[in-house]
Amino acid sequence: MQNARNFYIDGAWVSPASPNDLAVIDPSTEDACATISLGGQADTDAAVAAARAAFEGWAYGTSKADRIAALERFLAVYKARSEDMAQAISMEMGAPIGMARQSQWGAGAGHTKTFIQLYKSFEHERMLGDHAPEDRILYDPIGVVGMITPWNWPMNQVTLKVIPALLVGCTCVLKPSEIAPLSSIVFAEMMDEAGLPGGVFNMVNGDGPGVGTQLSTHADVDMISFTGSTRAGALISKAAADSFKRVSLELGGKGANIVFADADDKAVKRGALHCFNNSGQSCNAPTRMLVERPAYDAAVETARETAEGLAVASAHQEGRHMGPVVSQTQFDKIQDLIQTGIDEGARLVAGGLGRPEGTNRGYFVRPTVFADVTPDMTIAREEIFGPVLSMMPFDTEDEALKIANDTPYGLTNYVQSGDDARRQRLARRLRSGMVEMNGQSRAAGSPFGGYKASGNGREGGIWGLEEFCEVKAVSGWGA
Ligand code: NAD
Repeated sequence: MQNARNFYIDGAWVSPASPNDLAVIDPSTEDACATISLGGQADTDAAVAAARAAFEGWAYGTSKADRIAALERFLAVYKARSEDMAQAISMEMGAPIGMARQSQWGAGAGHTKTFIQLYKSFEHERMLGDHAPEDRILYDPIGVVGMITPWNWPMNQVTLKVIPALLVGCTCVLKPSEIAPLSSIVFAEMMDEAGLPGGVFNMVNGDGPGVGTQLSTHADVDMISFTGSTRAGALISKAAADSFKRVSLELGGKGANIVFADADDKAVKRGALHCFNNSGQSCNAPTRMLVERPAYDAAVETARETAEGLAVASAHQEGRHMGPVVSQTQFDKIQDLIQTGIDEGARLVAGGLGRPEGTNRGYFVRPTVFADVTPDMTIAREEIFGPVLSMMPFDTEDEALKIANDTPYGLTNYVQSGDDARRQRLARRLRSGMVEMNGQSRAAGSPFGGYKASGNGREGGIWGLEEFCEVKAVSGWGA
């Protein structure tokens, strides 16, 4: 990859101020597939200075139509280079190539299209109300945004930040995950090809203690938009406190999927497959399956069959299967948690320790199902971020609600039931930013975000545009 060791600053590809190489590992083979540079303070400063210098012109010297046209040009390039993007994602984080072409690449295209559509009717200047004809509420771009993203859905997260921020008039410095930086290098090439003014979009590779912390503490960064672990979210919040920047956090999850006996026939299989999707590496994965007792034994059997029927293979192989997890660190963490599940007395019904049969290289994990998990067990409480489903029975709606809410997280919960009134009761009382029911995904334009340790941000839709604005109250506006 031509630009792998470079950063994109002020409309040009530049070398790092000091070389600091890092190998990118292909999780299917454990071999190095590229070498990137980790940036340092001088690179961060240069990128932030470029974004700051570009801000006035982009925010106030362009029109809504100019910015929409620029992002439409980007979308055309994103579509034209879809295969480059899919290959980069599949290589760096192990999504099977078919899935990389569909949902991984598609998430970026979908968000970009939806944001452009919604922004066309976004009003930066709004009336306060009929009682105050001379008052206006202005949605002002917040300024220079530092964006820090994870590796699991790389383009989903990058587009949820960069596209709305640029549309409303912000400029930015993106620091993608050092584990999955290749897709963001392709993304920066696409931004370059779209011909945005220099400094509006900048990209510096680096790690958390380096560029991540430098952005979080930087006096000239107005906002940090972060997606990643709850641990890093807390560190970033503390690092950003002294400079009073806004910090928007999208963090981990431990979603409950409450399955009642009157759920549709496909509910258990659908829930298990959803848990295993992306090798279990989704913040909104339904990893705790709570099943009403009369349906519990049959549900455990269905989940076992589903796990055992799932093929695990290289990300480079065509077809529908589960790829590896992203890294040795993740592989080891998942193995440790499976061992903990066994040690704490959960019943292992599928998968378990070690690689799937036939693989001795690559970070492949066996799709794993534990039954008879209790709410206090480690595997019921910690985010595993691997293909591990924890199942437990419940007797009453209140008990299910209590178990579902008894977690530090609050991102997405799920309910499966044929009873509309019951689903609505639960949707109102589940303490999470999202509740998905009966297998229906949230529609385009719906906000994504969590309660509690799952963060405080809302990305996507109109909320995802407002997220990058300051609200300015003005009186005496005149006619
Ligand atoms: P991570 O927190 O280790 O890393 C995420 C990003 O933060 C990387 O770019 C990393 O370099 C950077 N970083 C790490 N420490 C930092 C620090 N101290 N200061 C500044 N930056 C720092 O997370 P990950 O392992 O890449 O991603 C997995 C996590 O992300 C999971 O917990 C998952 O649930 C979460 N996630 C949340 C959402 C959501 O929208 N809520 C979406 C996807 C992933």
